[in-house]
Amino acid sequence: MLELNNVETFYGNIMALKGITLKVYEGEIITLIGANGAGKTTTLMSISGIVPPRSGEILFQGKPIHCLSPDEIVALGISQVPEGRRIFPQLSVQENLDMGAFLRRDTAGIRKDLDYVFGLFPILAQRRHQAGGTLSGGEQQMLAISRSLMARPRLLLLDEPSLGLAPMMVKLIFQVIGKINGEGATTIFLVEQNANMAMQVAHRGYVMENGRIALSGTASELLHDEHVKKAYLGI
Ligand code: ATP
Repeated sequence: MLELNNVETFYGNIMALKGITLKVYEGEIITLIGANGAGKTTTLMSISGIVPPRSGEILFQGKPIHCLSPDEIVALGISQVPEGRRIFPQLSVQENLDMGAFLRRDTAGIRKDLDYVFGLFPILAQRRHQAGGTLSGGEQQMLAISRSLMARPRLLLLDEPSLGLAPMMVKLIFQVIGKINGEGATTIFLVEQNANMAMQVAHRGYVMENGRIALSGTASELLHDEHVKKAYLGI
């Protein structure tokens, strides 16, 4: 579904991605783990066109997307949930969700997807007319994920959904990620520092170190890898 070939991305003179090559297959949950500053967020930003690569290629369903604008990439079916759950704080829950469906014209489909996200996160239905900024951190993460789902993505890019959340909320968010992938048949690219949780839910994973892919494998291979255990799982 998605292929990155030798992607190099810069911030001015700083080379953040030093030749990333990876693949995401349709229907899977893939996780990208790594320490602070490894380049995980930059990888997502390069895919979604927010920080386009300087060289290399990104193919989505066989077609190059690295030259497209972020809105063209969203229209193809790639939706990103940014780190820090950047919702619109002054807008209500409902209005935030409407923003997610901004590019769509299929009213009946939008209504169906609204029911779907309210089914995933019933608390959002209860808080539908409340301003997004008044929600708890966990509820804001639910809203950020739901807003992206309202674009009906084929590929969902999730940037650190567990960041700053209480353990119970982290558990719930990961359960829902599994559901979105299983029932919703949405392919998921999950960036996480919580390597343990990420690898419980993912099918395959990549480990990123200093702007490069250091290791890849199935989730269970990585969970049993000595380097991963020491560096990322604290075992
Ligand atoms: P974190 O988990 O802390 O978000 P990360 O693995 O997502 O880390 P990135 O945020 O992609 O890492 O950062 C990769 C590198 O690019 C780091 O060296 C970082 O300092 C640098 N970088 C990130 N954003 C910018 C920016 N806007 N301007 C300059 N350098 C940046």
